[in-house]
Amino acid sequence: MLNDLIESLSSFKKEVEAAILGAETEKALEDIRVGYLGKKGKISGILKGVGALPHEDRPRLGEKANEIKRAVESTIKERAEALSSFARQEKLQSEAIDLTLPGRRVLKGSLHPVTTILKEISDAFLPLGFVVEEGPDIESDFYNFEALNIPKEHPAREMQDTFYLSEDMLLRTHTSPVQIRTMEKYDPPLRVLAPGTVYRCDSDITHTPMFHQVEGFVVDKGVTFAQLKWTLTSFVHAIFGQDVGIRLRPSFFPFTEPSAEVDIECVICGGEGCRVCKGTGWLEILGAGMIDPEVFKSVGYDPEIYSGFAFGMGVERIAMLKYGIKDLRLFFENDVRFLNQF
Ligand SMILES: [Zn+2]
Repeated sequence: MLNDLIESLSSFKKEVEAAILGAETEKALEDIRVGYLGKKGKISGILKGVGALPHEDRPRLGEKANEIKRAVESTIKERAEALSSFARQEKLQSEAIDLTLPGRRVLKGSLHPVTTILKEISDAFLPLGFVVEEGPDIESDFYNFEALNIPKEHPAREMQDTFYLSEDMLLRTHTSPVQIRTMEKYDPPLRVLAPGTVYRCDSDITHTPMFHQVEGFVVDKGVTFAQLKWTLTSFVHAIFGQDVGIRLRPSFFPFTEPSAEVDIECVICGGEGCRVCKGTGWLEILGAGMIDPEVFKSVGYDPEIYSGFAFGMGVERIAMLKYGIKDLRLFFENDVRFLNQF
């Protein structure tokens, strides 16, 4: 009787150990534990036979049963650990990152060529003591024309095709109104750079309805034309290089007297003469001159005490010459194939 029970305990051990090793999940393992070791489990079933045993045989059976119980529990523990490490392994594998995959390229933007040139122009003048002033895009007739010595009916108004918003208001045709606004605000000495957008009713390969200008002016006692030429020369050298020469040709602007058109040696052919410079070896880049006493009068400066010079340039024109761009409209079409080249 005792031997039969010990026999069935042994075969129980083999059976349960096989079941444990076959368990694939922690849940299946727990089911096995309950099924074999629990109160209503198989081992309890076997131990029910203990009552039929003679008194002296009972401890031996109990001892054997405990031994098997401990062994089974330790096997379950080992299997549980194996399963959890396996699960962890599987999780790591499923979440693995392939470090050898090439990364996605980040599309980097770049500055617009007009922005770049505007910055270069500022960088050329700021070390000379110039400060930046700005004004509104919508201007009155007074600031855009009258105060700059261009009265109504003056033929110079024909030089600029103006967008009028009303009888008196317009989109500024140049950045020169900033000159007036600044002189109204401050007393000399002044060294000012005024960059901004300007508008003219014109559109073809060399004209767009909106473009950028930089106006610069200096007002003080004893300002001379020679200082104007030196200032412009140092600007041209900063933008186009130390070897590029400049020349000034007499010209007319209502707000400067005397006035000059400023040319630089052709940056394409180096002065030899080519298609871009129309064989002359020179390229026009800006207009300049001594500020007209009439302009000083309109802001209340005494022209007997102060003199000054002013210059104005088209930013796109400078960019076209510097980068060899032939069509002005490219600047405003926002074609990424064009913009990516800068
Ligand atoms: Zn040339």
